[in-house]
Amino acid sequence: TALAELLSSRIRDVPDYPKPGVLFKDIAPLLADAEAFAALTTALAGRAGELGATKVVGLEARGFVLAAPAAFAAGLGFVPIRKKGKLPGEVFEQSYDLEYGSATLEVQCDAFEPGEKVLVVDDVLATGGTIAASLDLVRRTGAQLVGVVVLMELGLLGGRDRLSTHLDGAPLETL
Ligand code: IMP
Repeated sequence: TALAELLSSRIRDVPDYPKPGVLFKDIAPLLADAEAFAALTTALAGRAGELGATKVVGLEARGFVLAAPAAFAAGLGFVPIRKKGKLPGEVFEQSYDLEYGSATLEVQCDAFEPGEKVLVVDDVLATGGTIAASLDLVRRTGAQLVGVVVLMELGLLGGRDRLSTHLDGAPLETL
């Protein structure tokens, strides 16, 4: 599609970052381009509306940059899922494995009102560990997942397969 071509054209491949052998997808040129950033925001906001979301959830840190303006454009609130130790008050926490070691994500227990419908947004789906942990957190709050939208999916890493057991039938979409 024209949108996918515009977005792809503004994503830069950086070899050997953050370590040798990794090809890093850098979205900085996309964020810096007013037309592409607006098109991305409008697309995310449109899906939030079509899926009936009442909140847009962004995953720290680049997910915030995508989800917050999309929430605003859709007339919805924004909820952050953050790395451990950043959110005050009662939180649910979920750990997941990284290539070396593990990481923990948190969401505030009272982030959602009863019956809320959640769209989860992040920049990149790679192995799926980050989104899987985030979906587990959303479920524990009692909110209903209505979809996951990512800017891009690194298809060879198996993230989509890994997420299939976490989605509860909600769609996983890549822009
Ligand atoms: P996963 O948990 O393996 O799916 O990795 C996804 C997370 O790592 C996302 O939050 C991304 O921001 C980040 N990530 C992984 N690969 C890339 C990349 O090539 N570019 C930018 N972010 C990446």
